[in-house]
Amino acid sequence: LSSRLQGFGTTVFAEMSALAVATGSINLGQGFPDYPGPPEVLEVARSAIGTAHDQYPPGPGIPELRTAVAEHVHRFGGHAHDPDTEVLVTAGATEALTAALLALLEPGDEVVLFEPMYDSYAAGIAMAGGVARPVPLRPPPSGTGPWTFDPAELRAAVTPRARLLLLNTPHNPTGKVFTRAELGTLAALAMEHELLVLADEVYEHLVFTGARHASLSTVPGMRERTLVVGSAGKTFNVTGWKVGWICGPAPLVSAVRTAKQFLTYVNGGPFQPAVAAGLRLPDEYFAGIARDLEHRRDVLVEGLTAAGLPVVCPEATYFATVDVRPVQPDGDGLAFCRALPERAGVVAVPTVVFYSSEHAHLGRHLVRFAFCKGDAVLAEAVDRLGGMG
Ligand code: PMP
Ligand code: GLN
Repeated sequence: LSSRLQGFGTTVFAEMSALAVATGSINLGQGFPDYPGPPEVLEVARSAIGTAHDQYPPGPGIPELRTAVAEHVHRFGGHAHDPDTEVLVTAGATEALTAALLALLEPGDEVVLFEPMYDSYAAGIAMAGGVARPVPLRPPPSGTGPWTFDPAELRAAVTPRARLLLLNTPHNPTGKVFTRAELGTLAALAMEHELLVLADEVYEHLVFTGARHASLSTVPGMRERTLVVGSAGKTFNVTGWKVGWICGPAPLVSAVRTAKQFLTYVNGGPFQPAVAAGLRLPDEYFAGIARDLEHRRDVLVEGLTAAGLPVVCPEATYFATVDVRPVQPDGDGLAFCRALPERAGVVAVPTVVFYSSEHAHLGRHLVRFAFCKGDAVLAEAVDRLGGMG
């Protein structure tokens, strides 16, 4: 393994999904739904197989999908984008993020971001020769309320080498939705220090009552410095399709396209027209997935609470975070997760894996459970957790 990738090993998601299979446990670790996507979207993919869509699509993505991405972004409160120069189809959000980091960072450039953070960020930054400058989000002290950051800690993380701000909202793993006021603080900082912004908004539609997602790109002055990343996986329950996109000003998208050309060149042939159809579904579809998931959240949060695990109730995404200390006296979330298959027949992910070593102590006692599972599976998981030894 090269020095750039030292310490990255196997992703925790692969490890925990393998543990679930090996122990026959319910997998509430890796975030993927166990229910299908909208039938009309699946049907478009089925009928695209066996046609010209099986061959290399155009490098930036098929025009129909780029147009659908631009219309979708605009419909849900984002800017208008030129589908030809300002939209790029990628192999999931993961490729969009990594290609953007490779395209925009010089070796030694710093990326300011919050942690806990999605695990591909640190690896993508390392592959690009960049340096992560993580700023901690802290859970609400009483267990209810939002995760917050300290603006002074944020400012201190911005050095003269800072090049990029990477913001994930709605946020994995905490379920936090950054508020308008927080976005204002971040925008002011980005403009003052001339930072580019990479906005990971893959959970844009999975937002619950009381919270509202807004893109950092929509704060005045931010459009020209921000790239927004989305994914079909989360919105259409097709995480295996790996179709994502990135939108923003033409010079930035062009840079990302240069990197993408030599990572995968193109991806997702027959899935591209299907995702285009999905993005054109009526507003009711998008509202419906949030309502449906909110119900699943309530079931899991109630079950975890009843099992003696205090929960920080998520405002969005399909993840809930618990404090294991009441049932794990040493407060070790990793040990809790390793023992959970035996104790309860359930798999979860220790939140500590989403932190850099510098701040790992802040997440040691936290564990993430996914709730994007069918009613029977969730009910069974809650039942098992309630009987935890
Ligand atoms: N960003 C975040 C915050 C995620 O949670 C995920 C998927 N779990 C991704 C990016 C990657 O998305 P994709 O599967 O489309 O590559
Ligand atoms: N994004 C999903 C999660 O956070 C899974 C991603 C993955 O397996 N790489 O669990």
